[in-house]
Amino acid sequence: MTLSTRIQTLTGGGSDGWDVFYRARRMIAEGQQITELTIGEHDIRTSRDILDAMHAAAVGGHTGYALVPGTPKLRQAVADRIAATTGVPTGPENVVITPGGQAALFAAHMAVCDPGDRALYIDPYYATYPGTLRSAGAVPDAIIARPRHGFQPLAEDVAAKAPGARSLLINSPNNPTGAVYSRATLEGIAQVCRDHDLWLISDEVYDSQVWEGEHVSPRALPGMAGRTLVVGSMSKSHAMTGSRIGWICGPAAAIDSLITLATHTNYGVPGFIQDAAHYALGRGPELETAVAAPFRRRAALTRDLLAGQNVVKAAPIQGAMYTMLDIRATGLTGEAFANALLDAEKIAVMPGESFGQAAGGHVRVAMTIADDHYAEALGRVLAFAARHAKGG
Ligand code: PMP
Repeated sequence: MTLSTRIQTLTGGGSDGWDVFYRARRMIAEGQQITELTIGEHDIRTSRDILDAMHAAAVGGHTGYALVPGTPKLRQAVADRIAATTGVPTGPENVVITPGGQAALFAAHMAVCDPGDRALYIDPYYATYPGTLRSAGAVPDAIIARPRHGFQPLAEDVAAKAPGARSLLINSPNNPTGAVYSRATLEGIAQVCRDHDLWLISDEVYDSQVWEGEHVSPRALPGMAGRTLVVGSMSKSHAMTGSRIGWICGPAAAIDSLITLATHTNYGVPGFIQDAAHYALGRGPELETAVAAPFRRRAALTRDLLAGQNVVKAAPIQGAMYTMLDIRATGLTGEAFANALLDAEKIAVMPGESFGQAAGGHVRVAMTIADDHYAEALGRVLAFAARHAKGG
């Protein structure tokens, strides 16, 4: 029996730069000691009090079908967080709870794109993006953000692709580059969205992880609240990756349609998970700052280590749990560098090519291991690069 063309072409085919990742996984399975700097996952687990709240909710009976849009108190708590952090008046009618940010990305594109519509996104991109857009029936079309611009997309590059497109997906703070889009970048993008009547889908799952600059939600810019769907998640801000809980925030009419979609797809998020998320949000910004603190420290460690050498450059380390190292001085591609590093130093990093074309000659380092191990491993990555530098 044949499967749908849609599902068979989801990943676009070809080598996608994940070979290094899977090779590292195999080496670990064989018992080799590999330092893993590939994954965007905290080295802490969900905190005990959040789990206690989850347990209490489950034992208390919140194990039946939960309300599909999300519980009223959680929708309110998410709306309050968004209103507090962005200044945009936001109510529960502007929020639908989703099984994580990933499901939110898919649902948001289902809501705005018809089959065959062109959906824009920025390269370098979070690995799932093109497949997510395809699974929603859209045709992904990448806009390059260049290393020399600190991976900030230029409005003129967006404008060049905008005519006839339906939506634009952006992500700040950014995975994989660690860029935080400046207000000027976002204002330029917003202008293009207004000029070309684009929906803006703003993936803000790293909004609590900003090391330099400020997090500006483009929904707060003039004329944008009616055309922006914000994707949020408890995964990164509260170390709740495994709980699969996130949201979409947008105009009430869009949220109504997204609730209809949720009814016919995931049918809501478990009630005890929602109660735990409500409890976690109730702990306020202090918890989010504490969860983000290790990455803030490691971002500073990274800057210090980079300052002590001149072979590897880095994109500005502004936010999220990643550093994008520019290893072009070695003359190697990101993939060749990552493979050689894995063999020689038993350190696994992601080739920049895994995230599109724009990050070729780069590797992404996830700052997701304990500070001392992280500093030691990064030191070895830099020494390895120095040995391979052209003429070195
Ligand atoms: N967007 C970005 C940029 C991400 O890095 C991730 C997870 N790594 C997600 C969305 C999805 O996160 P989740 O589904 O856990 O909320």
